[in-house]
Amino acid sequence: MVRVRIAPSPTGDPHVGTAYIALFNMCFARQAGGKFVLRIEDTDQQRSTAKSEQAILDSLSWLGLQWDEGPDVGGEYGPYRQSERADIYTKHAQQLIDSGKAFYCYRTPQELDELRAQRREQGIQKALKASDLQLSNEEIERRKAQGIAPVVRMVVPEEGPCHVRDRLRGLIELDWANVDAQILLKQDGLPTYHLANVVDDHLMQISHVIRGEEWINSAPKHQLLYEYFGWDMPELVHMPLLRNPDKSKLSKRKNPTSITYYRDAGFMPEGLVNYLGRMGWSMPDESEKFSLGEMVSQFDIDKVSLGGPVFDQEKLRWLNGLWIREDLQPAEFIQRYANWAFPQGKAEAIVDLLQQRVETFADMAPLASVFFVDHPSLKQESFDALKLDAETQLKVLQFLSWTLDQQSDWQRDALYQQIAALADKMGLKLRDFLQPVFVAMSGSTVCPPVFDLMSIVGADLSRVRLRLAIEFLGGVSKKAAKRLEKEFATL
Ligand code: GLU
Repeated sequence: MVRVRIAPSPTGDPHVGTAYIALFNMCFARQAGGKFVLRIEDTDQQRSTAKSEQAILDSLSWLGLQWDEGPDVGGEYGPYRQSERADIYTKHAQQLIDSGKAFYCYRTPQELDELRAQRREQGIQKALKASDLQLSNEEIERRKAQGIAPVVRMVVPEEGPCHVRDRLRGLIELDWANVDAQILLKQDGLPTYHLANVVDDHLMQISHVIRGEEWINSAPKHQLLYEYFGWDMPELVHMPLLRNPDKSKLSKRKNPTSITYYRDAGFMPEGLVNYLGRMGWSMPDESEKFSLGEMVSQFDIDKVSLGGPVFDQEKLRWLNGLWIREDLQPAEFIQRYANWAFPQGKAEAIVDLLQQRVETFADMAPLASVFFVDHPSLKQESFDALKLDAETQLKVLQFLSWTLDQQSDWQRDALYQQIAALADKMGLKLRDFLQPVFVAMSGSTVCPPVFDLMSIVGADLSRVRLRLAIEFLGGVSKKAAKRLEKEFATL
C-alpha cells in the first residue's frame, strides 16, 4: 500500500514549496491508489501557530490538493498534529536510552559554542559526538541538583561513510564525521524534527518519503534511527528545490513565496498547480498546459529531473493567462472574478472608506482601483515630489518592509501602532514617513487612508508592493543591506 505524506511546520505563511511537494506526493499516491496524509509538525512551540496551520490547510484546499488523512479530516493513524503525540516520542526516546543508542546531555548552549570554537581553532573539522559532550558524574549530579533539564541526544558514528539511497539520485555518500550527536528530545521534553519525523513516518506506515532536497543531510540520522528501532525505512525521494530566476533558492526577498499571494494577486488555482507540476517534471507529450487530473494519469516520479527548476513569475502569468482565456466560460469568469474581487467584507470596507469622498457612483472606480490590482504602476515623479530625500525614502520602505515581515496581525489598528512606532524610532514625523508608503501602496500621493488600504489588500499584496517600490527606487545592494540591517537592529 502506497502511503505518502507532507509534513509542513506551521511557522509562517503557506509556502509554494509546500504546495509543490504536496502536488507530487498527491500525484504519486493517486496513481498508485494509495493514501496522501497531511501531518502538522508543530513541535517548535515558539514558532508554530494555529493561524499558520489553518492557512496551510486553506491554501492547499484552494489549490485542490486534497489529503485523505489529516488533523481536520482524521484517519486511522492520528493524531496528525505532533504536539498531540508527545507521549509517543518520550516513549521512543526512552527506548533508545535503554538500549544505549541515546543519552542525556547536560551541556549548556554556551559550552557547545565554546567547544565548537575550540575545535575550529585547532582545525578539527568534526561534528560533536557523545564522547565530546561527556561530563563527570559529579558534574552531572551538580547540574541536576541545580535543576538544569537535560536534552536527549542520539549516538552517531564518529566517522566513516554513510550510504543513503534516494530513488532519484541513487546511492548518496555522506560523511559521519559531519554529523552531530543530534538532539532527539529538547529541554522542554518535546522532540526535534528528526525523532518525531521518523517515529511518525513509521507509525503512520508511510511507504515513500517525497520531500525537498534540503532534507538530504538529515537522511543519515533518520536511517540510523530506523536501524536503532529495527524498522524498515520508507523509500526516499528528494525533490529538487525551487529556484529564483537567478538560480538561488526560492526566497521571499526575490519572489513572492506565499500561496495566498498568488490567490490575492488574481491567479487561478488551476494555473498555479499546472505551473508547479512543471517544476522538474513534464508531460510525456511535453504539453505545457495540463490539469491536475491529467497530471495524475500521466505521472511518473522516476521522470523528475534534478536540475533546479526555476519558478518564474512571467511564465506563471503566461500559463495562467491560458487558463483564464481558454477554460472559463463567461458566466464562470464572472463568478470567479466576483469571488476574487469581493471576498467577504471587502466591499463594505471599501464603501466605508470611499462613500464620503464621491459625488457620483462613477467616481468610485478610479478611487477604488488600488484595491483591485496586484500592484500599482509607479512613477519616479511621485517619489521626487516628496518631502524626504531619496535615500531616506528607500530606508523608510526597507525598514517598514522588515518590520511588516514579522507582522501577523493585519488589522488596521495593529498596523497603525507598528508603523507609528517605527516612524518614531527613526525620528521621523509620521506624516513624512507615510508619504513614500502611500506612493508604494497606491502609486499616488492621493490615496485612501494607507492603514486601511494595507489592511484591506492584506499582508501578501502589501509586502510585495513595498518590495517592488524598493526595487523601483534602485533597490538595496548587498552591502547597503548589511549597513541598513545593523541600523535597523539598533532601533
Ligand atoms: N517539517 C518538515 C518541513 O517543514 C518536514 C520535512 C519532511 O518532509 O521530512 O518541511
